[in-house]
Amino acid sequence: MKVGCVKEIKNNEFRVGMTPDNVKSYVAAGHEVYIEKGAGVGSGFQDAEYEAAGAKMIDTAKEVWDTVEMMIKVKEPLPEEYPLFHEGLILYTYLHLAADKPQTDALLNGKVKGVAYETLYDPKQGGLPLLAPMSQIAGRLSIQEGAKYLEQTFGGEGVLLAGVPGTPKANIVILGGGNVGTNACKIAVGMGANVTIMDISLPRLAYLDDIFGARIQTLVSNDANIEKAVKEADLVIGSVLIPGKAAPKIFKKKYLKEMKPGAVFVDVAVDQGGCGETTKVTYHDDPIFIEDGVVHYCVGNMPGAVPRTSTIALTNATLSYGLQIANKGLEKACADNEVIYSAINTYDGKLTCKNVADSFDCYE
Ligand code: NAD
Repeated sequence: MKVGCVKEIKNNEFRVGMTPDNVKSYVAAGHEVYIEKGAGVGSGFQDAEYEAAGAKMIDTAKEVWDTVEMMIKVKEPLPEEYPLFHEGLILYTYLHLAADKPQTDALLNGKVKGVAYETLYDPKQGGLPLLAPMSQIAGRLSIQEGAKYLEQTFGGEGVLLAGVPGTPKANIVILGGGNVGTNACKIAVGMGANVTIMDISLPRLAYLDDIFGARIQTLVSNDANIEKAVKEADLVIGSVLIPGKAAPKIFKKKYLKEMKPGAVFVDVAVDQGGCGETTKVTYHDDPIFIEDGVVHYCVGNMPGAVPRTSTIALTNATLSYGLQIANKGLEKACADNEVIYSAINTYDGKLTCKNVADSFDCYE
């Protein structure tokens, strides 16, 4: 099969759909690989590395779109890319169609086979294996960003997470102990802070208690526990998720006035609307704002800050499913492995993902 990859054109997006090592795997399996020149530079992968791996380097994105049977990307296509679709193209990427009717219509009208990373469900790999690596990155990054914005020059209270002998350590409160929360916890514990983690799931709290032991405090997430904990917090991480729904607003505006001035709130759940009443989406080029003395960091695509790590982590997860699709064709790959079927959102002009269809009232 002819597979390929173009440079991402979304604002401040430096990840890329294929690494040179991925190219080697596709070429070894007998596929032709077409890469737009410069596609990997933002993630630190040079054209020469792709070429050495066996890729054909192409001058323009249009030529790659026109040539390939399977396009491997990171982000959803943008409107300027819609005219480049062709019938029968397999588009393997994050699509996030539920919030994007123009893109959904473009994929349907173009009869594109849209295979979405975010709906690929593999119970053996712990659920949503193509989403998990980004949650791991965002969770780990949340503590790093929190530590930075606790510095006084950014409006923070001027506290070092670990403290030093003779000074108090910082108090970190993590709301939601799933993928993001567990990874935040790992870094927070490693940095030597006092960590409290809350979840509504008792089995999840039991798991966290098993792996972190006496180094953390687990608490059931409810208004009373949250209000008490955030009063003493230097850093609060928002990492709750109710799948398919807007995040519950559990970090209330009234808490801000009771918190330490210069405390930091990192709302990782911002991509689901955020779990703070005062959350507003921010971007990497202007990531924080201060409300009632509390620094808010609410960037919706945190992994974009570390594109090299993010690209490697994402493609580690996407490669094996991508190879199955390229080796067998999408239809046979689905027949052999129903996990891949769960990722198909559009096919031959039809919307094939129920959750996406349910988000709109105009599709059958
Ligand atoms: P997850 O499903 O692994 O974990 C979510 C946890 O929240 C679960 O353990 C659940 O029990 C818990 N929860 C639900 N309601 C709660 C409540 N009221 N109080 C406390 N806990 C509650 O999800 P995840 O992968 O950790 O993702 C968390 C959020 O981070 C999602 O919204 C995800 O989209 C987002 N995310 C954002 C970025 C970013 O760049 N901003 C990157 C990756 C993930």
